Amino acid sequence: MKIKYLLFLILVCLMPFSACTLIKNKPADNIKFHLPNNLLEQYRSDLGELQQASVYRIVMTIDLIEDVVRVEGTEEVIYTNQESIPLESIYFRLFPNVGGDYLSVSEIQIDGIPMRPIMEYSNTALRLELEKPLPPGESTTILMHFDEVVPSVMGGNYGLYVYLDDILALDAFFPIIPVYNDEGWNVEEPPQNADMIFTDVAFFSVTVDAPEDLVLVAGGKETRRVVESNRQVVTYKGGPQRDFYLAASPNFVSENITANGVKVTSYFFEEYRSSGERVLEIGADALMVFSERFGPYPYDELDLVSTPMQAGGMEYSNIVVLGIKFYDPASTTGETPGSVFLNAATAHEVGHQWFYGQVMNDQIDEPWMDESLVQYVTYLYYLDTYGEQAADGFKASLDQRWARVNKEPIPIGLPAKDYTPTEYSAIVYGRGALFFDALSDEMDQDNFDAFLREYVETHRWGIVEPRDMKRIAEEACDCNLSQVFYKWGAIN
Ligand SMILES: [Zn+2]
Repeated sequence: MKIKYLLFLILVCLMPFSACTLIKNKPADNIKFHLPNNLLEQYRSDLGELQQASVYRIVMTIDLIEDVVRVEGTEEVIYTNQESIPLESIYFRLFPNVGGDYLSVSEIQIDGIPMRPIMEYSNTALRLELEKPLPPGESTTILMHFDEVVPSVMGGNYGLYVYLDDILALDAFFPIIPVYNDEGWNVEEPPQNADMIFTDVAFFSVTVDAPEDLVLVAGGKETRRVVESNRQVVTYKGGPQRDFYLAASPNFVSENITANGVKVTSYFFEEYRSSGERVLEIGADALMVFSERFGPYPYDELDLVSTPMQAGGMEYSNIVVLGIKFYDPASTTGETPGSVFLNAATAHEVGHQWFYGQVMNDQIDEPWMDESLVQYVTYLYYLDTYGEQAADGFKASLDQRWARVNKEPIPIGLPAKDYTPTEYSAIVYGRGALFFDALSDEMDQDNFDAFLREYVETHRWGIVEPRDMKRIAEEACDCNLSQVFYKWGAIN
């Protein structure tokens, strides 16, 4: 290197946001190959720090034979050890097996060498013992074949993985690597009534070969489509994402609008058009409110799709799914009309695009960190979209939820398994949201708003612990918040 060039480089490197950042963070070839085209331009510089994120390449077929849906394919994962210690094993979660043995895996190879898996936790976890430990920073390539017959009855976790009423809903349908942290690999018997996905962000390239008449709704962005002999072969690429979700139905129709430069699309049945169009409007409004408050939504597309499920809605990276039963104008949930419920549920699930998609927490051990917060930001959506009266109405609904356990001061910070289903709903979705309201009073609203912006900015694409949240909040208000965190049981 010539001295002149060296001097130039030193000068450039002293400048913030310089070309030097690009030199230091040159993306690895695998990421470059998979350079996602669903990420907004302003977030592309984040890619340099995600060189070690896993890359999933899935090639799969969907077949419908006599009302039974079979999905099979190959999955190749380039996994890099992002920990500070060598790893002796790698786990995959097989979430479809929460409801029964639906997903099986075979022909596993690690760097070309055949490998026998060790099945654990009622076949919901698959352990691969490495021949020699994988040192920090080193990569390995895992190849496998997967095969599943999708259940046609709702079961397992909220009934999110199902083929019912001509809708295929593929929730966490492929083997996916969980988070490794100070607890080791995060594998356990998944709870039946809480969110299960706890993953580092990854990059996905998924090619789906499916009957031509299915309208496919999938994570990432469509990059290629070939239609031939009544089949469609479509490739989706995306990342950084927490997951890859896919829904399909021959009966989906759609409408879309552009909000903040993002193409927002709502998929619904023609008979529920008015609800489908309303969900589109709510989704776009929520996206604009949260983009303004917490930083722009990071992708160029957001899909909102109606599927059968036992829950009200569920979040996935760049996709929101909502219970199709609430699209029926005559539907109710408790005493709430379905249309009122859909408003809150849509805003809630869009809120997860920040608190789940961008900032992830352990949803099994600390479900309040995203669920309670997302309930609170739904209140902010009401405030910014409809004004104080509507927001107070939503806040009253949080109080009513808590009242289902007689407003017992049950700590908000317990793991999902320590709550009964009634407590889980009342505390995590009611009392926990009121904690954030109390926190905003304690900190002053301006400091609280600054805290949430900083929380997303600092931990985007990362994983947070309660102490991270407390620290950023205390920095924002320059005050000690131990008392309020302890009083509500956010930190025990
Ligand atoms: Zn939620």
